[in-house]
Amino acid sequence: MEIHLNKLTMQFNDIKAVNKLSTTIRDGELVSLLGPSGCGKSTTLMLLAGLYKPTSGKIYFGDKDVTKLEAENREIGMVFQNYALYPHLSVLKNIMFPLRMQKVPKKESKKLAQEMAELVQIGHLVDRKPAQLSGGQQQRVAIARALVKKPKLLLLDEPLSNLDAKLRLEMREEIRRIQQEIGITAIFVTHDQEEALSISDRVMLMNKGVLQQDSPPQEMYKTPVNQFAAGFLGNPPINFVTLAKSGNDKYLLNELAPFRLPNVIEEDKVQIGLRPENLYISDEAEAICTGKVIHIETIGRDTLIKVEIAGETLRALIDPSLQINIGDYCHLGIEEECIHYFHPETGVRLG
Ligand code: ATP
Repeated sequence: MEIHLNKLTMQFNDIKAVNKLSTTIRDGELVSLLGPSGCGKSTTLMLLAGLYKPTSGKIYFGDKDVTKLEAENREIGMVFQNYALYPHLSVLKNIMFPLRMQKVPKKESKKLAQEMAELVQIGHLVDRKPAQLSGGQQQRVAIARALVKKPKLLLLDEPLSNLDAKLRLEMREEIRRIQQEIGITAIFVTHDQEEALSISDRVMLMNKGVLQQDSPPQEMYKTPVNQFAAGFLGNPPINFVTLAKSGNDKYLLNELAPFRLPNVIEEDKVQIGLRPENLYISDEAEAICTGKVIHIETIGRDTLIKVEIAGETLRALIDPSLQINIGDYCHLGIEEECIHYFHPETGVRLG
């Protein structure tokens, strides 16, 4: 089912938790709502679910205006981070619960619940109580229960937060598999950029209630529309430095620290963004800048170095086989298309 949001706004007292949010989510798409705590992700989900009614704006499911439709009539399945399973009921009865509420005959609801249990691969655990399951298995029960009524939209609110790192990985792949297998439109709330980038067809990045960027994961990473988007995505985080233009391809951090960058902007000043994984140790001729190594650390397969340039520090992920020591001077290079330019005051992408 396709979903349209038109200038959706939710105001709580003096806070606009969601501010004029407009987008279209295509049928069968999995879209992540990503952003820092308090940016309005959960409020957006509650509005979609019909648990909140917006201050203004419209929600359409297909062609139908559902803005005022009650939650129980929206044909939505929801999964929360705390699973919210009934502890005294078996797995099968937990999954059957929404059908029983709808007075579906017992035999029929048992069959449907068993089918759902098979889909989420807990078919062999249906007689157990939730307490006898692992966190990942409990989450599978919650997903099966959300899907058993064959909803047209699946809403997931930080569904992986209570799982350990390994299970999170496994369950996010599972959620994607299940979503694709049944072809349901899904909206996934997370504050974890890696989760959002890995699971989604499209990411909606929010800040302070305002949609910042709405694009496929790779595009958001490669072409962030503003400084916020550039800073929110990437680990270790992107480096920002403000430079003053000084001639054709010359920019200055200050007199001691020239940067050589392609001449793509007209402004006198520019904020540049350089991702640590795009920087490399180069020879002088192709370097954009030169600085002193002040920190070296191994993270995973890479080596993270911090390079000090006239009081600013740049993080770079470099080849671990390079011999480098604290106190060394090094030249840093980067591919031209990996340099991000932003307006120094507004943070909007330039060039
Ligand atoms: P988190 O990741 O911490 O859950 P979030 O992005 O989901 O955050 P929301 O819960 O949607 O953010 O909250 C957005 C803003 O609206 C916050 O400033 C929050 O304090 C405020 N807010 C949310 N619900 C209410 C409410 N019922 N009454 C008043 N203010 C609220």
